[in-house]
Amino acid sequence: MRKPLIAANWKMNKTTGEALSFAGSFGQMFYERFEGDDTPVDVLICPPFLGVPALCAVFAGKPVNVGAQNMYWKEKGAFTGEISPSMLKDAGCSFVIVGHSERRHVFGETDEDVSEKVRAALDHGLKPVICVGETLEDREQGKTHEVTSNMIKAAFSKVKAEEIPSVVVAYEPVWAIGTGKEAKPGDAADVIGNIRKTVDGLFGEATSDNLRVLYGGSVKSGNIRSFMLEEQIDGALVGGASLDPNEFFKLVEIAHKTKR
Ligand code: PEP
Repeated sequence: MRKPLIAANWKMNKTTGEALSFAGSFGQMFYERFEGDDTPVDVLICPPFLGVPALCAVFAGKPVNVGAQNMYWKEKGAFTGEISPSMLKDAGCSFVIVGHSERRHVFGETDEDVSEKVRAALDHGLKPVICVGETLEDREQGKTHEVTSNMIKAAFSKVKAEEIPSVVVAYEPVWAIGTGKEAKPGDAADVIGNIRKTVDGLFGEATSDNLRVLYGGSVKSGNIRSFMLEEQIDGALVGGASLDPNEFFKLVEIAHKTKR
């Protein structure tokens, strides 16, 4: 069985002080609730780069993973403003978000960039969280499966079959991110089913049984249960609702109760 994963994408929010305050509140609730329970849900928090070292220090040895929201794929060199996979690893990150729609649409990240980043992440022992999703225009034109399959094929082009358990996919319809308009859980499960089919087509039948696929797009405590009830959906990538420790803890608890 695939272990559920609830991941926080803080985007460009929280100073280091605010990140530490969140960590204190969330940590207390999380350890109290799941102490001795072998944490049945994986938790991941992705702060802005500057918050990474502080959160890694606070959560060192604890069952809370810290990740980055982006990175460059080169090892080092003349790449002003960029962060390398080994820098993230050195800071204590275990995951990195790759190809978020804001990276693709605001910063012009391409499918080729995403595939380089996925390869570099795996080479450095970082688990990539690969984001894919269609725009509203794609959906209205009936291109959702085609667009998401093509993004998956590009992102997995440098991945080996045995690396699939270290990869996470987040299906995030662009029109649902930060809009308060979540996808219908059945529709999300349908797209994720097709994503699994695409991965099986690339790597062989049932490979995707070992691939965690999350849903992302306006997830909150009031709707996460309906997503977690879908067998295809292994968790959530959460933006806005992950900024409040109480709300984020509720998401983890509901995910746990629904999936066990
Ligand atoms: C995201 O940032 O990946 C996201 C899904 O944001 P939100 O939950 O705010 O829609």
